Amino acid sequence: MLMNDKKPESAEPIIRIENLHKSFGHLEVLKGIDLTIHKGEVVALIGASGSGKSTLLRCLNRLETVTAGRIVIDNIVLDDSLKNVHHIRREVGMVFQHFNLFPHMTVLQNIMEAPIHVLKKKKEEAAREALALLKKVGMLDKKDVYPRKLSGGQQQRVAIARALAMNPKIMLFDEPTSALDPELVGEVLQVMRQLANEGMTMVVVTHEMSFAREVADRVIFMHNGVIEEQGDPKVVLTEPKSERLRAFLRLIK
Ligand code: ADP
Ligand code: MG
Repeated sequence: MLMNDKKPESAEPIIRIENLHKSFGHLEVLKGIDLTIHKGEVVALIGASGSGKSTLLRCLNRLETVTAGRIVIDNIVLDDSLKNVHHIRREVGMVFQHFNLFPHMTVLQNIMEAPIHVLKKKKEEAAREALALLKKVGMLDKKDVYPRKLSGGQQQRVAIARALAMNPKIMLFDEPTSALDPELVGEVLQVMRQLANEGMTMVVVTHEMSFAREVADRVIFMHNGVIEEQGDPKVVLTEPKSERLRAFLRLIK
């Protein structure tokens, strides 16, 4: 496995995926994924539409059950135990392509919701932390605004703050900038870049190759439910070994 010098090979594994299979009915979508991700690592997941990227991400916080194989996150086995599932959901934050903010709540209320109702935090504490997170994503001045009044980029930054409010150890992003107008992509990537620099473990499904090249420690190319190629972005994206990855990179350029 290729890693850059920022993340020593001795870093602790935080996600372990062993021989993961996932089918929907007769359709086998993940066909044996083996993958270890270390604390603080930033992984960019790329591949054609339908290759299984979202399904893999969704298995990691148990939005999907697995058909076979094993996932261990932060030493917790993702099995049928509801206790483990709840535990994992707290540790793994997820940001989707469509921001899914609660439309009837202000920005601040959106962020305070889970800390109050899931983590049982006091209102004052939740508010204090929410304001700090809004400051971090540059949205403090919009705290009392409803989501529909915000641009897509602003909504996505709030969605990131909302996920961070659960104090996750891992953040999953599923094409977080794909629904945005081009001029709004940068502000969201900037927030993600900052998170990466702070040492957050991140798995990011993205078509933003410049982000993958500059921010990711590792790029993983999926094809047809398997990992076709992976490694240092500077190597994998410039000298791909696999003909399929070469074809994919030509297509998205
Ligand atoms: P990607 O994110 O790489 O585009 P997905 O993981 O979303 O790929 O989908 C992989 C395949 O699994 C696709 O063929 C898709 O239609 C199928 N699929 C995804 N979710 C479901 C589901 N809930 N039920 C049935 N098929 C699904
Ligand atoms: Mg997808």
